[in-house]
Amino acid sequence: PVVTRFAPSPTGYLHIGGARTALFNYLFAKHHGGQFLMRIEDTDLERHNEAAVDAILQGMAWLGTPHDGQIVRQRERCGRHKEVAMELLKNGGAYKCYCSKEELEAMRQEAETQKVAFRYPGKCRRLPPDACPPAGRQPVVRIKTPEDEGCTSWKDGVMGLIEIPNKDVDDFIILRADETPTYLLAVVVDDHDMGVTQVIRGSDHIGNTARQIAVFQNMNWELPDFAHLPLIHGPDGKKLSKRHGATGLEEFEAKGYLPEAIRNYLARLSWSHGDDEIFSTKQAIEWFTLSACSRGAPCFDFDKLNGLNQHYIKEADAGRLYEIVEKIFPEVKAFEQKFRDPRVANMLKVRAKTLIEYKQAADFIMAQRPLEVSKAAAKDLGDQLHLESLAEDLQKYEGEWTPEALEVYIKGLVVAKEMKLGAFAKPIRAALTGSTASPGLFEVIWAIGHQEAVARLRDAAA
Ligand code: GLU
Repeated sequence: PVVTRFAPSPTGYLHIGGARTALFNYLFAKHHGGQFLMRIEDTDLERHNEAAVDAILQGMAWLGTPHDGQIVRQRERCGRHKEVAMELLKNGGAYKCYCSKEELEAMRQEAETQKVAFRYPGKCRRLPPDACPPAGRQPVVRIKTPEDEGCTSWKDGVMGLIEIPNKDVDDFIILRADETPTYLLAVVVDDHDMGVTQVIRGSDHIGNTARQIAVFQNMNWELPDFAHLPLIHGPDGKKLSKRHGATGLEEFEAKGYLPEAIRNYLARLSWSHGDDEIFSTKQAIEWFTLSACSRGAPCFDFDKLNGLNQHYIKEADAGRLYEIVEKIFPEVKAFEQKFRDPRVANMLKVRAKTLIEYKQAADFIMAQRPLEVSKAAAKDLGDQLHLESLAEDLQKYEGEWTPEALEVYIKGLVVAKEMKLGAFAKPIRAALTGSTASPGLFEVIWAIGHQEAVARLRDAAA
């Protein structure tokens, strides 16, 4: 059975790159009918920083890629990690290292003068078995990595054959002097114990993979398959960062993106299925393969994301959009009924690329009297008699309150007054919305409501 996992370190928020990693692990697992597990790598975290963990969990809940089984908390498994370190000591896959800070510093300086990268030279690996350890010094435990001229290599699911020369991998520490496990040990033990068969993570972990393979091998554990995804770049070709805009998932949420738009967009970052741009997560699960992932760094294109978001906003129903908008703008509560009306929603959807724009499209409905009138709109207000008489006519109106019925009624007035609709409409639009641009006039009147529309016309006529 296929088992993948998402293993974020709680940094305080779920980065969009992490979200893509989670999504790909999810898609791969579900494509194969397998399990998508979740592990929080909180080993280095201060004891009570639960807020950082919550931020990740909230991001995952929002993203909508549910994990299977219990969440594994790495910190709770320290005992098991230590046990494996002891096992490695016993089976000869690791050794105790007594080198002091000062000795290591001297080795580091030596490497520097020789202009080679520092690599622990394995001094304690060669201690004779009967050597007496320095009194009172707590050793660390180091893994034995291959010392031959060869390479550690694997067939990467995305990057193809990767070969890391053994000389670039040193005998790294797996257990510190205080007997706490290091990250590189913990990851391997957890992946093994969780039965992970496929590791999918960012290409920044390629160096770690060569190290982790040594732990698997020294334990005689079966290796999972590895796949490394290229890191996401900003539009300028540099690694995606704050400079480019939002990077935390909660920022995308606050900016009015729908999770399905983010999922669709992220799926297209490094993976493709023909020319398909818009597809559901269900389709992505059906179609996903690692071999269709590309090696080059994908560029995060905010315009493309906006286009997708616009599409999904159009698809979403009014009630759901209302609930999301209300989270971002609690003040819309007073207009809940209007937002929940599918016809109002359709009007707001027309041009909205985000739910911020969606809400802004409703600003004219929610505006408080007396309206603020823009300079350009003030020019349009024109003669007040016209507005006054329309207010009277509208007040008297007893027909159906729909844009269509209002259209018939208003067009009748235009004919009766021998005017052109355009000239007739301009001051009304200005009076009702305070601006020169709005959805169609009849929809505007309808959306504002009978009494409020009359009142706004009277305000402008006064
Ligand atoms: N915790 C690591 C990170 O957040 C990921 C480790 C892994 O996927 O193996 O970068």
